[in-house]
Amino acid sequence: MCIVKTCGIPLDGSGAPGKGPLDWERLYAEFTANVTDGDCATLCRRGPDGLGACCDGARLTLIVFRDELAWARQRTRGWRGGRPRTPAERKGVAAWADHVAWARCLRPRQCDRPYRSLTCRLFPLEPHLDAAGGFLGLTYVYEAARLCPLIGRQLSVRQAFVDQSAAVWRQILATYPEERACYVRASRQLRSRFARHGRAIRLWRSTDGFVF
Ligand code: SF4
Ligand code: SF4
Repeated sequence: MCIVKTCGIPLDGSGAPGKGPLDWERLYAEFTANVTDGDCATLCRRGPDGLGACCDGARLTLIVFRDELAWARQRTRGWRGGRPRTPAERKGVAAWADHVAWARCLRPRQCDRPYRSLTCRLFPLEPHLDAAGGFLGLTYVYEAARLCPLIGRQLSVRQAFVDQSAAVWRQILATYPEERACYVRASRQLRSRFARHGRAIRLWRSTDGFVF
């Protein structure tokens, strides 16, 4: 399962072993940039007291790394691992790779921001890879376009967010080859779909232009 995707692409098990767990302490400390200036939840709340769509467990499944879950358990009560409740959820989770886990946000109205999950921080962009696994840039999680009003619109995404996200993806793809294999496949499918409809995929590159 690609970590921030909601489409449930099963993995084919390809890829060499990764380099080991990420340095979660450092990663959480360094990845602080927001996707937009201001609070983008004002764009997607249902009513004045509503939750931002990506914080609403009823609308978006929270998928985390298993290593991350173990590390975060000692540090935050904001979210925790859980079990899928419905047959459809259980069926979806059964297709996921072992390195990711189901999680649930416990206090979506009082976010423990320093300890919000990596998935929370990365949404709504994901890597777009070529057929050989090379990084072409970050793109929207287009599958979530009905959920997140930032996706596919001409709203500005902060360059600091792009730079920090790209740096994190560099580490994820080096650590979890399953993720690279998943995004190679997801990117190929996205290109085919967009080509059929004559659409262009929106891409962002990090300032350092680093390719991974
Ligand atoms: S769903 Fe999109 S617009 Fe709404 S809070 Fe999440 S990132 Fe912001
Ligand atoms: S941890 Fe924070 S950002 Fe993540 S779903 Fe909960 S409230 Fe939203």
